[in-house]
Formats: sequence, structure tokens, C-alpha cells
Amino acid sequence: MFIDGQFRDSRLGQEMDLIDPSTGQVFARAQLGGAADVDAAVAAARNAFDNGPWPRLPSPERRRLLLALADAIEAEIPAFAEIDSVNMGIPMSSAKFIIGELSVESLRYNAGWMGKIGGEVINTATPDTHVYTVKDPIGVIGAIVPWNSPLMAAMVKLAPALAAGCTVVLKPAELTPLSVLKLAELVQRVGIPAGVLNIVNGVGSVAGQALVEHPGVDKIAFTGSTAVGQGILRSVAATMKRVTLELGGKSPVFILPDADLDRAIDAAAAAIFRNAGQICAAGSRVFAHRKVFDKVVAGLAERAGAMAMGRSLDAATQLGPVVSQRQRERVLGYVEIGRGEGAEVVCGGQAAGDAGFFVQPTVLASVKPDMRVVREEIFGPVVGVQMFEDDDLDRLAALGNDSEYGLAAYIWTTNVSTAHKLARRVKSGIVLVNGGPALDRGVPFGGFKMSGWGREYGREGFEGYLETKSVSIAL
Ligand code: NAP
Ligand code: MG
Repeated sequence: MFIDGQFRDSRLGQEMDLIDPSTGQVFARAQLGGAADVDAAVAAARNAFDNGPWPRLPSPERRRLLLALADAIEAEIPAFAEIDSVNMGIPMSSAKFIIGELSVESLRYNAGWMGKIGGEVINTATPDTHVYTVKDPIGVIGAIVPWNSPLMAAMVKLAPALAAGCTVVLKPAELTPLSVLKLAELVQRVGIPAGVLNIVNGVGSVAGQALVEHPGVDKIAFTGSTAVGQGILRSVAATMKRVTLELGGKSPVFILPDADLDRAIDAAAAAIFRNAGQICAAGSRVFAHRKVFDKVVAGLAERAGAMAMGRSLDAATQLGPVVSQRQRERVLGYVEIGRGEGAEVVCGGQAAGDAGFFVQPTVLASVKPDMRVVREEIFGPVVGVQMFEDDDLDRLAALGNDSEYGLAAYIWTTNVSTAHKLARRVKSGIVLVNGGPALDRGVPFGGFKMSGWGREYGREGFEGYLETKSVSIAL
């Protein structure tokens, strides 16, 4: 645990093995914290917010500290990438960018907003008044994150929260506590005051739930599954905490007949096979026009077959393992469900490798909108391809929108009108046309429908850690 500027043993006194998913071997042990650890961490964060310097520091000073932290991480990107690569199986070839560079950029981007967002003077309906708004930091943030990009997922919350002047208690996923503990060393070293960042490792239903219920926490910023997000919403009703939820997805990829097909298929393969499909915005439902359907299915299968599968630390690896034995069983279980529902397994569909938790990249054809493999998030390297026949964009959008989720949508067409018209019609928080950037820190990211509440990244992401106060004066 990292509490009030110090590394401490868990008060709960439990431990668990951490397993390298590339080998199936235990490589470390981590302590698990519980309610008493959360109490201590929240007390430290509360004190740092209510009485400490952090929210009161002039913004240039707070900015200097966050930029120093960004520099310190940047100097150790290979080490951070290696920790998360061993811990959850993300290939080193992508970990340096996803884990390292994006974390650094999150800090620098949000540090840039500091001092640039304030309130406004309001023109009121009432004469002889002076009314203005101010933006205050919300307070103590409980950040709860998943295992699929450990340091980056944490930084997406830490960077705007700390920049806004909030203090944080972070609960990483129980499977991936290591990279954020290394981050805590750097937080100490650059001189960010004690209590500003606190970390309690632990199991979601224990440490996570304690954080969600704690009366000393002002906001929960959560990334994870829709089911846990729904539970959080029910729990926070008791204390009226603010909440943002970044949840699951079942994102459509539309490939129109006029698309640049090679690029579209390359990107569609990357959108489902990168990070072994363990990406909330994974493109898991491909809709290919009848004229290009066969080429899309064959092209996806060809790219799947060409991916270099291997240990996450090997430089040549493009496809690593999934995070755990349990996750592999879940993914392969879905492939079996798909077969039972009548899906055709064009390629993959099996476990792979002599050791570790590898899953072959899998392409399913003959899938139908009501199949579970089309409706439910698999969170693995499994894509289903559906054919569409006509050129009506309302009907095409309706096919894509036939999902309880609404996180991302990918559109491939060379017709600019088609692109904009379809973008307007899809019900998704993020629409990416012809490979538009998904992870730019400046672009708001979040879901419609069951994919979440609120937005991260961008100005909205920063403002998610501010509360508006109106001051009305009769003159
Ligand atoms: P998860 O089970 O929902 O876990 C996410 C986090 O919540 C973990 O830290 C987990 O702890 C914790 N947690 C579990 N139960 C809790 C409870 N009752 N109260 C408070 N916290 C609790 O999700 P996951 O299986 O780790 O991650 C995969 C899911 O996350 C997928 O559905 C994926 O789409 C989603 N995701 C969404 C985004 C996005 O930006 N929208 C990004 C990444 C992932 P434990 O680790 O101990 O379970
Ligand atoms: Mg979980």
C-alpha cells in the first residue's frame, strides 16, 4: 500500500500470487488491502485536500510538480512498459506507447489546462447584481481501474484529478498492482506532498467496495465492466458521490464498398487483435457490405494468421496472451457459445502455446444480430463479421446501433458525405473515420448507453474533476 507518502503493509494482511500470463508462472506476490487500509488512505487524502497545500498551491507550482512527474516517468518508460508487459501480457512493442508515452502525455496535457479554466461572469435577469461562477476541485477522488492497461488506465484519472487540485485514493485491479506502485516512488521523489496520491491494492468486492461506500470520498472515477459500474451507481446513491463510468463496449466497424479495403482490413484487425482484444473500444462487430464481405472475412483471417504470437517481452511479439486462465476460459467459452448458435469459425477459436494463456485470433462469420457472441462483450481476440446489403445509411446505422453499448464506432469509406452522415447516425461516444486517432489525450472519450457516464480526456475530462459554484451578489 502507498498511504500518506509512505509504503505500508496491508492491515488486512492478505497476499496473492501474480502470474505472468505468457508463462503461467508466479513472478511476484502482492499484498491485498481491505476496509482499514481504505480508511487510512481516505483519511490521508482527506487531510491533504482539506488542510494540505495541494489544492491551494498556485497553479504554476502544481504544474511544475506534475511536469516533473511526467519527466520522471518518461525517463523510465522501458521499465514501466516491462512491468505491465510481464504483469498482464501486453506486448512490449505496444506497451512503450500505450503504457509509457500515453501516461506521460496524459500528465502533460492536463497540466496544460491548469490555470486556464475558470468561471465566468453571468449577465443576470436581475438589475444591480453581480453574479459569477468559480470552478472548485471536487475533493477526494476514489479511482478504480481495470487490468487491461494498468498504468495508463490509472493515469487517465490521476492526471486530470491532480491537475484540478483533487487528491486521490487509487485502487488498481487486483491482478495488476505493480506499475502504479512504481509510480508512487516517483511521486515521492519529485516532491508531490504526502496524501495527494494514495494506493490501496485489493480485491474489488473488498477494497473497491469500501472505497465506493466511504463517506470521505467525493467522487468515484471508475473504468471496468458494466455490471460493476451498475453496482457502483447503486452504492453511491447513499452518499451522493459524483461518478464517472467508463464501461464496456461492442463497437461496430462499418466497411463500405468504396473503402480503401487494405487499410480498412488492417485497421479492423488491429481494432480487435491489439492487446489480445482486451480493449474497451475494440471493434468486435464488423459490418461489411455484400460487395466486399468475402474479401473482408478472408483479409481478417489472413491478418490473424500472420500475427506473431509469443511472450509479451519478446520484441517480435504482436499478439500476447490474455490476462489470466479465467479470462482465457471466458473467451474460449464464448467461441463455443458462438458455434452452438451457428456461427462459422473461419479461423482460430482455440487455446494456443505450450504455456501461458494464449488464445488464437478468431474470426466468426455467419453471425446474426441476436447471437450472444454479437450482443455480449467478449474482451478477447474474437471478431464477428456480418454482411449488409443495401446502401441506406439509416438502416446501416440501425444495424450498428442494435446494441446496449455505445462506446466506439469505426467507419471506412472514401465518400466524405457518407462518412459524416453515418457519423451523425451512430449512437456512440467516439466515431473514428478512416483511422482517426482514438487515444489522443485531447479528444473526449466515453460512452453512450450502457458504455458509461461522463467523458475522459480533453477539456471535458479535466472539468470532470471540478464543481461549479455560483456567487450571486445584490449590489
Ligand atoms: P471489473 O471486474 O469491472 O473491474 C474493474 C475494477 O473494479 C477492478 O479494479 C476491480 O477489482 C474493481 N471492482 C470489482 N468489483 C468491484 C466492486 N464491487 N466495487 C468496487 N470495485 C470493484 O472489470 P475487469 O474485468 O477488470 O475489466 C474488464 C472490463 O472493463 C471490460 O468490460 C471492459 O470493457 C471494461 N473497460 C472499459 C474501459 C473504458 O474506458 N470504457 C477501459 C478498460 C476496460 P478486481 O480487479 O479485484 O476485480
Ligand atoms: Mg474483475
